[in-house]
Amino acid sequence: MENLTKKILIALVLGVIVGLILNFVPSSLFRVLDTYLLGPVGQIFLNLIQMLVVPIVFISIALGTANLKDPAQMGRIGGKTIVFYIVTTMIALVIGLSLAYFIQPGQEGIFNTEEAEYQPEEAPPIMDTLLNIIPDNPVNALAEAEMLQIIAVALFFGIALAKLHEKTEGLQKLLEQGNEVMMFLVNVVMYTAPYGAFALIASAVGDAGIQGLGQMLMYMLTIISGLLLHAALTYSFAIKFIGKASPYHFFKNFFPAMTVGFSTSSSSGTLPISMKTAQERLGISKPVSSFVQPLGATINMDGTAIMQAVATMFIAQVYGVDLAFSQLVMVVLTATLASIGTAGVPGVGLIMLTMVLQQVGLPVEGIALILGVDRILDMLRTSLNITGDATCAFIIDRSERKKQREQQA
Ligand code: ASP
Repeated sequence: MENLTKKILIALVLGVIVGLILNFVPSSLFRVLDTYLLGPVGQIFLNLIQMLVVPIVFISIALGTANLKDPAQMGRIGGKTIVFYIVTTMIALVIGLSLAYFIQPGQEGIFNTEEAEYQPEEAPPIMDTLLNIIPDNPVNALAEAEMLQIIAVALFFGIALAKLHEKTEGLQKLLEQGNEVMMFLVNVVMYTAPYGAFALIASAVGDAGIQGLGQMLMYMLTIISGLLLHAALTYSFAIKFIGKASPYHFFKNFFPAMTVGFSTSSSSGTLPISMKTAQERLGISKPVSSFVQPLGATINMDGTAIMQAVATMFIAQVYGVDLAFSQLVMVVLTATLASIGTAGVPGVGLIMLTMVLQQVGLPVEGIALILGVDRILDMLRTSLNITGDATCAFIIDRSERKKQREQQA
């Protein structure tokens, strides 16, 4: 793994360098390279890991639930997870709003709002997502990779296995063996990660048009500072004071998964790798990791929340709108919901931003201004999104272990 991490890191750096160089070659040459080389290599890697997501989430949650010793544990873990996710997302939003307030990225440069055009895509109603957690057709949930629905079906399945116990030993064994197969396949797929990461990054940076980045530099820096601050303050604080562990150790060991999140821009797609990294390198127990991380990859998006906070302030500043304190509170509330509703796939955070802008009466056309740089920011925020999920799993695992020790004593 150490070796692989180094390779991925080298691939990331090379990808950025090649991407930057590609900004200076004729665009027709870039298109050819992107269509026939970088695009396909990146896509093959994405498909390979995404192929594992649904079986891994289903099998590991069903097994994790079946193996829980104490039935109350599930409810306790669920409650703590939701509280952690909501609180950290709100902190992320406050960090994003405060930074944008002080840095004023929308005041820098001259932004042409006249030509800004954006066709908002319909943001899925969050209530529908929540109400549909229990699917009427489990096979459809699996086929459509509906993550919350898969979690619900797997939980029911796991509870039944636990209750029926001896009668379903064969089925449980089958799932255990399925889990072995999946973990083996994650290892195999990880060997292709450096090539996939390189291709994805070179393509994204090459496509970003760095000539146009200058004007958006302050906006990007504000978001990047927010992401770093949230990791360095909120997560480190939680790991140190609640998890009673070293944040350095945590970040060092989780780093390989962060690089994969960065290259794929998809929390859900990175799940097989982030779960394996959390279990093997951070020692998080399988039941906790298998429940907390897939749930987080679907509803917990702190990086996305930071982007939404900064983007809202940025658009307000560009359009010369002063947001009152009550509107800022509204931003925190709606962006918390928007990040819950954001699916863990590339670019959705921006679509959900429409909801936040509409709530405080800001023009959605403003999104056109930030669209061009969003691809790169998506990579960065996805890294933070999956780190937030792993932080939560880590802390909950620590507190569950403590509870078990106390019960045994
Ligand atoms: N790409 C992000 C993720 O998968 C979601 C987003 O902000 O667009 O975590």
